[in-house]
Amino acid sequence: MNREETIKLLKDQPDKIWDFLVIGGGATGLGVALDSTLRGFSTLLLEQSDFTKGTSSRSTKLVHGGVRYLAQGDIGLVLEALRERGRLLKNAPHVTCNQSFIIPTYSLWKTFFYAVGLKLYDLLAGNLSLGKSVVISKEKVIKSLSNIIPKKLTNGILYHDGQFDDARLGINLAESISASGGFLANYIQVKSFLKSPSGFWEIQATDIETNIEYSIKSKSLINATGVFVDDILNMDKKESEPIVKASQGTHIVIDNSFLPGIDALMIPETSDGRVLFAIPWHGKVLVGTTDTAVEKTELEPLPLEKEVDFILDNLEGYLIQSPKKKDVLSVFTGLRPLAKPSKNTKASKEISRRHKLIVSETGLITITGGKWTTYRQMAEETVDKAIEVSKLKPSTCKTVNYRIHGYIKNTDNSSLSIYGSDANNIFKLINSNPVFGEKLHINYRFTKGEVIWFVRNEMARTVEDVLARRFRILFYDAQAAIDMSEQVAEIMQFELEKDNDWKNNQLLQFNNLSKGYLLK
Ligand SMILES: Cc1cc2nc3c(=O)[nH]c(=O)nc-3n(C[C@H](O)[C@H](O)[C@H](O)COP(=O)(O)OP(=O)(O)OC[C@H]3O[C@@H](n4cnc5c(N)ncnc54)[C@H](O)[C@@H]3O)c2cc1C
Repeated sequence: MNREETIKLLKDQPDKIWDFLVIGGGATGLGVALDSTLRGFSTLLLEQSDFTKGTSSRSTKLVHGGVRYLAQGDIGLVLEALRERGRLLKNAPHVTCNQSFIIPTYSLWKTFFYAVGLKLYDLLAGNLSLGKSVVISKEKVIKSLSNIIPKKLTNGILYHDGQFDDARLGINLAESISASGGFLANYIQVKSFLKSPSGFWEIQATDIETNIEYSIKSKSLINATGVFVDDILNMDKKESEPIVKASQGTHIVIDNSFLPGIDALMIPETSDGRVLFAIPWHGKVLVGTTDTAVEKTELEPLPLEKEVDFILDNLEGYLIQSPKKKDVLSVFTGLRPLAKPSKNTKASKEISRRHKLIVSETGLITITGGKWTTYRQMAEETVDKAIEVSKLKPSTCKTVNYRIHGYIKNTDNSSLSIYGSDANNIFKLINSNPVFGEKLHINYRFTKGEVIWFVRNEMARTVEDVLARRFRILFYDAQAAIDMSEQVAEIMQFELEKDNDWKNNQLLQFNNLSKGYLLK
């Protein structure tokens, strides 16, 4: 992954005609660019910020069929997601895992109801099932979830789903694109485009770091910009009908003493009729999420006080020692790019999580909605459609069994295991200089050498890129991230050959941003 290489290509070969230009480096865009690259198409992906800066680093981290969608009767969606869940766990075992969940039940009728539903869930997963769901006794629930309130508890249902690190998977997809011959760059924003009389797209994009503009040509143009798809549709045709309705989801992260053990807790009925998960993640517990319709679409949405209260209040009904605001280590919010329903009255929790693939009159292809879990399927459909629309050479999808960068079958529990097959090279780099092995924080394993790795190999450009989406620490211990920021900035300043102004500016920006991850 080399940003300079991509930029050099844009400078040196302005007349190059790409087969695919993908706008957006979240799950959807990265999936599309990998699919088209593997089919042999010349592909360029441009991301205006960092890869997965948008919704794709702010998910609940579930690779799931969606138990909730089953309750809504959307069997087709569940089937598709369960199939993709199985494939993702096989193709990226280093960033995914099989996670057990316990649903506590408070009446025999509810036990029966959830047990039947989850049996159906197992059945739909077929041979890609991650393990059978079983009814467990009250005693077993208390043993597994030692902080659960035992009063009125009758039983529990134990079932399995997948879990992952969303931003790390995003980086691995980017590395896969690059390793397969595709090109990509972060911090390049698409500003405008039009269809030339010769039938090619002519795209104007700006390097956010230097303000240099590039003109790029492509046979097909893919709009994979999540909640921003309407902005791109407006570049294609002014005052286009909006197709996305944004819905905000907030998570909090708390210490694992509130949920000791290996099982996740699934609260099946919250006060607003949804589900709430409390899941072990990076040694902490991630709890979420909410569903709040919002008008504004932005890259750094902020949690609302009522969302945090909602999560804490719902936990209070289940946990003996329940967390208070002071116990929240980090809070983060993402925007769901939900397909706008034709009737405005539909509540966002009822809007289908299915994806939407749209071909504009001009041939611009827009893909939005869906889930991280189904990104591969969405990409396959998008590339198939682009081949048809732009009359490219037909070619079949290659991603069903494709091993994503970092693939390693038996991951151990070592501190570098999240890097999969890269762990060996990172270990070598760390050991090449005693300074590289120095830790960045007393409570965490992170070393200086990893920051150097991120800059040299994973296109990390800012302090935020490192702390939010490479280490993930901003998402689970915001104060620790702030404590590490100065050292990270210094290492990056040296690696990127920047001056002191750059470093001071980075620290200022990161400090402002990190305030949004801490509760006041
Ligand atoms: C709260 C929440 C919880 C979720 N939990 C789960 C879960 O547990 N499991 C699951 O499977 N799914 C989950 N999802 C859904 C999943 O996260 C999303 O479906 C997915 O991340 C959407 O990815 P995307 O690439 O479409 O959008 P994004 O990740 O937002 O990517 C779009 C990108 O386009 C870029 N962009 C915009 N305009 C331009 C431009 N002009 N030029 C260049 N780049 C541009 C943006 O910077 C952005 O990075 C959750 C979603 C939310 C909000």
